[in-house]
Amino acid sequence: MLPVRPELVGQEPYGAPQLDVPVRLNVNENPFPLPPVVVDAVTEATRGLAAGLNRYPDRDAVALRRRLAGYLGHGLDERHIWAANGSNEVMTHLLQAFAGPGRRVLTFTPTYSMYPEYARNTWSDYVTLPRCEDFSIDLDAFEAAVGQEMPHVVIVTTPNNPTGTATPLEVIARILEITENGEASAMVIVDEAYQEFARPGTASALDLLEDNPRLVVTRTMSKAFGFAGGRLGYLAAAPEVVDVCRVVRLPYHLSAVTQAVASAAVDHADVLMGQVAELRAQRDRMEAELRGMGLEVAESDANFVLFGRFEDRHAVWADLLERGVLIREVGPPGWLRVSAGTPEETDAFLRAMSEIVPDAV
Ligand code: PMP
Repeated sequence: MLPVRPELVGQEPYGAPQLDVPVRLNVNENPFPLPPVVVDAVTEATRGLAAGLNRYPDRDAVALRRRLAGYLGHGLDERHIWAANGSNEVMTHLLQAFAGPGRRVLTFTPTYSMYPEYARNTWSDYVTLPRCEDFSIDLDAFEAAVGQEMPHVVIVTTPNNPTGTATPLEVIARILEITENGEASAMVIVDEAYQEFARPGTASALDLLEDNPRLVVTRTMSKAFGFAGGRLGYLAAAPEVVDVCRVVRLPYHLSAVTQAVASAAVDHADVLMGQVAELRAQRDRMEAELRGMGLEVAESDANFVLFGRFEDRHAVWADLLERGVLIREVGPPGWLRVSAGTPEETDAFLRAMSEIVPDAV
C-alpha cells in the first residue's frame, strides 16, 4: 500500500468512456474539423516557433490574453483575462486562490461533475443546492443556504451542464447581491463554457463585470471554437483576480505551442464560429424531434440536449451504442444527454432513437 492521501484511495480518474464508434455525441465537442484556413494558420504558427522551443514561453501569455480580450469585447483588455490549459485549470486556479482548507464552494445541482473534484483537489469543502424541477435556481433557498453555509465561492454554470438551461442575468445579479457581506462576501464564478450556443438575446454575465469585482466569468475554446484538443480555457474578471491567479499558477503553465496555436485560432474566431449556427440548428432539431417522440426535453441554450425520462436509461444508452451512437449517461436519474452533431450524426442519433423509443418510455 502506498501512503496515498486517504480521500484518494479507491477513487477513479474522471472521464467519459472513450469508445471508438462511428457517431460520438458524448462529450459536447464541436463535431466539425478545423477548416483548412485555420489548419494552415495553426501549422504556420507552430513552424514559426519550433526553433525557439529551447526557451521557456512567455509566463504571462500576454499576446494570447490580449487576443482573447479582443474576442470578448466589453471594453476588456489583457489585464482582465487569465488563460490556462482548459477552463478546468482556470477553475482550479480560482479555487486555489479563493477556496481551500476550511473554505466552502457552493454549486447548484445537477451540474458539471468536475466541480467536486476541483474542490477535493484544493482541499475545499463542497456544498450543493438542488435546482428546481425546471432546473432553475431557487433564490430563496439560496439566500437561506448562504446564511447557513457562508460560502467563499459560488459557481453558477450557464448554460448549465448537463441540463443545457440558462440562468437569466437578473438571477446572477441577485446572487451577487445575496453574497455581498463585507469581508465575508463570496466570489461568484459564472461558468459560461457554452455561452456562444445560447439563443439570441441570452445575455452574458460579461455585462455585469464592470460593477462587480467579485464576479468571474469563465469561458473555453473547447466548445464553440472547436478547439478542445488545443486545451485553452480563460476567464474575464477584475485585474485583481488575474493577479492572484498569477500567484497560484505553475511557472510556464501554458506551453509556447499552446499559446501560439490558440492565438492563431482566436485570430480566426469568425471562421470557427461559422459552425455555431449550424450546431444550434441541430440542437433545436434534436429538441423538437425528441419531444415529437413523446419524451421530456430540457430547454437547451448549449450544444447538447438533456432528455428522458426512462425507466432504465442505461438500457437506452446501450441500445444506442449497439447502433453505433455514443451518448452520455449523466444527469438526474432517468435522463440522458446527447451532444449536437453534424447533420449526418444527428440523423443517425434520431434514427436510432426512433427505433428504440417505443419500447423505452
Ligand atoms: N465547464 C463546463 C460546464 C463544461 O461542461 C466543461 C467541459 N465539459 C468545462 C468547463 C471544461 O472544459 P475545458 O477544460 O475543455 O475548457
